[in-house]
Amino acid sequence: MNMEYAGDEIRVKKLEVFAHHGVYPKETEEGQIFYINAVLYTDTSRAGKSDELEHTVDYGSLCRFITGWMQENTCRLLEAVAEKMSEAILLRYERVRAMDLEIEKPFAPIPLPFENISVKIHRGWHRAYVALGSNMGDREAYLSGAVKAMESHPLIKVRKVSELLVTKPYGGVEQEDFLNGAAEIETLLNPEQLLEALQEMEQAAGRERLVHWGPRTLDLDILFYDRIVIESERLAIPHPDLENRRFVLEPMAAIAPWLRHPVTGKTITGLLRELGVWERGGS
Ligand code: ATP
Ligand code: CA
Ligand code: CA
Repeated sequence: MNMEYAGDEIRVKKLEVFAHHGVYPKETEEGQIFYINAVLYTDTSRAGKSDELEHTVDYGSLCRFITGWMQENTCRLLEAVAEKMSEAILLRYERVRAMDLEIEKPFAPIPLPFENISVKIHRGWHRAYVALGSNMGDREAYLSGAVKAMESHPLIKVRKVSELLVTKPYGGVEQEDFLNGAAEIETLLNPEQLLEALQEMEQAAGRERLVHWGPRTLDLDILFYDRIVIESERLAIPHPDLENRRFVLEPMAAIAPWLRHPVTGKTITGLLRELGVWERGGS
């Protein structure tokens, strides 16, 4: 899937499904009508040229999938229906890069005149880059374990992994050399959720946070997440110090040399060139 060209849309309007979502017992027992509206963002050009169904999203299959999902699951809230079903659709239909999904409940149980209640969300795949570092124990095993952990996460797909690089420690703490790398992933997690998932992987690798910039079995940092810019206490994206770190830029140059920093507009290759001949250490 080439995300840059996913600007075409396939639309499903008012698919009617009888299902059992709701907060009240009457709703879950008796059921009611829901309408589903979906806009799938994809690239239709291949199917447009070939005229072959297998090159696009089969909307017949999609409508059956939505109907089945709506009837096999029971959620209390429309929010949960939309969240979980959009995830299921994005995982099932690889050509769908992102989607708008609206769940309408025309007979919602409120004793007031209204036409319709609905929840509409936008969800999709995001491209992120993760820095990997280790300088304790079997460093290679920790890093390959991290790649496997990302691969087996249901909402993460690993697209590229750089070669690993031995580097000197960074930040002035006396410690072992680091092994560093970088990975390109696609994910349905938002930045906060991705950070949480990566921290769980660090924990699973026995990471303890003792000394800042000190020795660690596994360090996973989010370098970039789409072209997003976040600066909060818990999360800074792009990673604020990446332009000073050869051990980040070198593996990044191997997998995404053309990638531009969303704030400075500089490419990875350009940042690496600016860093010049100064040797900097790891993780
Ligand atoms: P550095 O971030 O300078 O490489 P570090 O990796 O040694 O330092 P950690 O102890 O691993 O720092 O993490 C400290 C905190 O940094 C984490 O708890 C997390 O909330 C925060 N953090 C902020 N931005 C990011 C990011 N882009 N990726 C990962 N963690 C981040
Ligand atoms: Ca970290
Ligand atoms: Ca780090």
